Amino acid sequence: MDRLIKQYIIICETTSQMLNTDGLLKSKGIRTELMPTPGEYGSICTTAIAFAAEDKRNATKILKDEGIAESLEIFPYQSRKLAGLMNRLKDQIISSGFQQVMEKIENGEELTKEEIVLLLKCESKSEKAALFQAADQMRKEIIGDTVEIRGAIEFSNYCKKKCNYCGIRNGCATPKRYRMTVKEVMERVYELHELGIKTVILQSGEDEYYTPEILIDMIRRIKKETKMGITLSIGERSYETYRALREAGANNFLLKIETTNPQIFNVIHPDDDFDTRMECSRWLKELGYANGSGNMIGLPGQTEEDIAEDILFFKKMRIHMIGIGPFIPAKGTPFENYETGSVDLTLKAVAVTRLVCKNVYLPATTALASIDPDGQTKALKSGANTIMLISTPDKYRINYQIYSNKNMVDLSSALKSVAESGRQLPEYLKIHSKEVV
Ligand code: SAM
Ligand code: SF4
Repeated sequence: MDRLIKQYIIICETTSQMLNTDGLLKSKGIRTELMPTPGEYGSICTTAIAFAAEDKRNATKILKDEGIAESLEIFPYQSRKLAGLMNRLKDQIISSGFQQVMEKIENGEELTKEEIVLLLKCESKSEKAALFQAADQMRKEIIGDTVEIRGAIEFSNYCKKKCNYCGIRNGCATPKRYRMTVKEVMERVYELHELGIKTVILQSGEDEYYTPEILIDMIRRIKKETKMGITLSIGERSYETYRALREAGANNFLLKIETTNPQIFNVIHPDDDFDTRMECSRWLKELGYANGSGNMIGLPGQTEEDIAEDILFFKKMRIHMIGIGPFIPAKGTPFENYETGSVDLTLKAVAVTRLVCKNVYLPATTALASIDPDGQTKALKSGANTIMLISTPDKYRINYQIYSNKNMVDLSSALKSVAESGRQLPEYLKIHSKEVV
């Protein structure tokens, strides 16, 4: 039996225990990898340590010698299979190539780039239905039917950068600039907390007005007064700043790679650098953040091959939360006349990401909701499991138009998508869907 197990995972009780244990094993020559905790062993918001099966004896000895083995749990880990998938798809008319890929998914085998491309390029109604069905099954088996609801506060639309696609880029005349005070942020945090929401996302442009000290004050107050999980989405900062924010209590960090094609990355980011973005992503992982990334679908020159590379990157980096949204042109930007990304391709990318990365948070993005009124419901049926409520005060949100006609996903539209997709609200939410839908 043991010969079939490729990896073991260590589940730790706290992040500091996880980081210390990982450091200890590495220092003794054990090759480890950090990964989102598989759903069956704990919350996928937390991080597990994976190592190769042949190192089991050594690793166990090291942990025993240090006297920490008793406080940890070690489990065999095999890639998730999707039992009964082919049987469920037997009435669908699918090509033999597509069928072979589905068989590999059923058997828990890793997909190659070519196979991912094949899935992303599927066009027939029945193959797309089969893909979404498989992703939905994977989501159900790993995460269950509950949709995680998080609240996003867009606390500043000032930005020093000029990303060509973004409606709040530096120099863009359209938005009226605003900055929220810590007090204003806290007022929204209390409201989310009252609603029972467990995680708040603090998002902004790259705005250095918010010094590490101001951000630390914000994080500490949220932690002290609500104990909520905190996701930061504030762009690129120094290693020291990321570390200080993590130590202050920030749990997750969302920094999207946007595209793993360095040429496209450089075209869309005139004042940013692909290697720097990669380095920031690595730092965040190293510092023990639950690491968020993602991409845009429909960027100029982007192909299905590029999207397949993005998905393999998310897997390799063991990303916890992956935001996949269509590119949407924003008024007043160099890309304002470019074509909007396709809903169909975005949904396929969400589904394939679920099948490849498995135990991750996949939001039904606001961008999808902005170009298709049923976009979030469709995403929830294609592997997604999270919705972010836009919780920015009304007087400011109108100026956080990162793209034109941005949907202001609120509680009632989120509840509608949850109900329409036949899913459940989390027990922590202090509201019943019937009250709103
Ligand atoms: N400034 C931070 C950063 O860039 O990571 C956080 C805020 S930024 C507005 C958050 C995300 O908005 C980006 O990662 C990008 O994917 C998305 N975004 C910006 N402009 C967009 C557009 N025109 N279409 C779709 N998504 C867009
Ligand atoms: Fe600034 Fe982020 Fe927009 Fe780029 S995507 S211009 S960094 S807010």
